Amino acid sequence: MKVCVIGGAGYIGSHAVYELIRDNNEVVVIDNLSTGLRKAVHKDAKFYEGDITVKEDLVRIFEAECSKKPFDVVMHFAAKLIVPESVSMPLEYYHNNVEGLRIMLEVIKEFNIKNVVFSSTAAVYGEPVHEVCSEDDRTKPINPYGATKLACEEMIKWVSAAYGMNYCIFRYFNVAGADKSLEIGLEKDNLTHLVPITIQTALGIREKMQVYGNDYDTKDGTCVRDYIHVSDLAYAHVLGAKYISENNKSILVNLGSNEGYTVKEVIDEVSKIRHVNYEYVERRAGDPAKLIASNSKAKEILGWTPKYTLKDIIETDMAFRDKIGRK
Ligand code: UDP
Repeated sequence: MKVCVIGGAGYIGSHAVYELIRDNNEVVVIDNLSTGLRKAVHKDAKFYEGDITVKEDLVRIFEAECSKKPFDVVMHFAAKLIVPESVSMPLEYYHNNVEGLRIMLEVIKEFNIKNVVFSSTAAVYGEPVHEVCSEDDRTKPINPYGATKLACEEMIKWVSAAYGMNYCIFRYFNVAGADKSLEIGLEKDNLTHLVPITIQTALGIREKMQVYGNDYDTKDGTCVRDYIHVSDLAYAHVLGAKYISENNKSILVNLGSNEGYTVKEVIDEVSKIRHVNYEYVERRAGDPAKLIASNSKAKEILGWTPKYTLKDIIETDMAFRDKIGRK
């Protein structure tokens, strides 16, 4: 396949590029490098600097590439994804996530691209109605991040119905870890996600970490999340892209592990390697108590199940952070 990866210099996008190249696909990356890193783009991928919210950028790149050979698939990773940031900056989230996707779909339609793979999120479920979230459960986001992604899902479905494009929408649960090569991982300033923060604390990069709330209705009072290794998640994109293009069908699938861990359990797992200094503080805005994926649909349709465990996630992130100089 010839695949265009928009946001391919970012954390998840760069891992998807690695898996696509391992699977012998031709990859073109577009990224505005706002949070992504040029060095995270695989050396065998072609790179263009461009912004998803600037239509001229996409048209220029699509013209250059599609005149030679059109893209079989476009993958979208160019989104903002920090829940607390979305609560304080909702308009930026609507602009980047929703308007960015609208522009991308307009260009895809103009260039007659048939297949789109889109990163959505467990945050579309809000406070889940079941212990384990299934794809047809009610969607009712409780933060702007989830709301923008749900709006994007709806947009893709309507566009697909109108113009016959196939989509693969993935609802990610909590993604963490680093590629086994340790060439890429989650590398950015001001990290907010639990796994890297816990590891930074274990490595002494942070003196102490905060646990946001211990009065949730969970087994130890801290929030439950479903952690998935970024390489497992990235590989699902290869399978999803092939599935929709070969079967001329659209799918919407959760990517998670079927298992939940509390914040305290994640800290305990890291503490087995090194001590983690933490304190309980107030709840954080926008956090649901529990989010666990049913991944039976991914297994049934794509034959996908995660290979890596929480321990692997922690070990690869820690090894990566060690490698980049304990950032
Ligand atoms: N969390 C925490 N301390 C931190 C970072 C996160 O207690 O320094 C909690 C957060 O409140 C949530 C869980 O860890 O309950 C997962 O948060 P994260 O930001 O990693 O992902 P999210 O589920 O918000 O996408």
